[in-house]
Amino acid sequence: MTDIRPQPGILDIALYEGGESALPGVPPERVLKLSSNENPFGPSPKAIEAYQACASSLHRYPSSDHRALRAAIGEVHGLDPDRIICGAGSDEIISLLCQAYAGPGDEVIHTEHGFAMYRISALAAGATPVEVRERERVTDVEAILAAANERTRLVFIANPNNPTGTMIGGNALARLADGLPEHALLVLDGAYAEFVEDYDGGAALVEARDNVVMTRTFSKIYGLGGLRVGWGYAPRAVIDVLNRVRGPFNVSGPALAAAEAAVRDRDYTARCAAENRRLRAMLAEGLARLGVPSDTSQANFVLARFPSAAEAEACDAWLRREGIIVRRVAGYGLPEALRITVGDEEAVRRVIAAVRDFR
Ligand code: PMP
Repeated sequence: MTDIRPQPGILDIALYEGGESALPGVPPERVLKLSSNENPFGPSPKAIEAYQACASSLHRYPSSDHRALRAAIGEVHGLDPDRIICGAGSDEIISLLCQAYAGPGDEVIHTEHGFAMYRISALAAGATPVEVRERERVTDVEAILAAANERTRLVFIANPNNPTGTMIGGNALARLADGLPEHALLVLDGAYAEFVEDYDGGAALVEARDNVVMTRTFSKIYGLGGLRVGWGYAPRAVIDVLNRVRGPFNVSGPALAAAEAAVRDRDYTARCAAENRRLRAMLAEGLARLGVPSDTSQANFVLARFPSAAEAEACDAWLRREGIIVRRVAGYGLPEALRITVGDEEAVRRVIAAVRDFR
């Protein structure tokens, strides 16, 4: 008889079901996938070119120190490349932080409607995830400070948050960083930071404190979700720890090359951000006119709220018949809401027309 068991809580984690890109009975060219917050315009053409140029060196292991990508990120964002770490998506950075800093008996704080990987990575590390209530779907700093204790090791906040799209300001973040116990690291997840005008994702706070880490991704505005690249900016001591636990070849060569070209193409990024703002307003206003309100989103999606969970479910089913895949967020404690990625203009028009027909 064996007694082989995973860490406590792991078998309660629901398997991921959000990745589908096909709908039964709908021709593939009619399917509109608006469930994963992808960039509808795809990556910069320069990133695609850089990716294709890697075809002749696929037999080589990639760079293990990610020097070229870190240098590019450092230049574009005005950051010290020695304090940057790259990972296979920001998912990997989140996971490395949990592996390195939290274990059995430790607590990892995340917010009520926070990104699912915080809880999952904490459980996989053997630590205890602690959920803190939001206030009206906005991160509540005082509630987080009240929940922190001698067992707290990590506090994860996405800003803007997924799936709510809401944000908290710099003063609130500084208050949080200053108020946490000295053995707790504050992780600011900036997966959607580039969609916010004049927001550094928390980089200045990382510079100013020794207990703050920022994570970022190439999956959203840079349109490279398929390649899996993310990065983190952290105090030197944290970078040193994470570099010890990560696999030496954790990011593939084509992914490193495409990400470097993407981050250097600032014009393309700026155009995507501007288009997202315009189309996000069009989507939110169009839905509001149909009696479907949403909180002010700073990201590339809106959280559309229906009068009841039953109506959200019925609208989701209706949209699927119309060939539109959006994200149900009942698993995030928001059964009456649907998270809809901001697509291109035609996509936004299709969503509004379909919801109008549904209502
Ligand atoms: N953080 C947040 C808030 C996200 O929404 C996502 C993607 N859904 C991630 C991190 C992970 O992104 P990736 O691993 O693709 O970098």
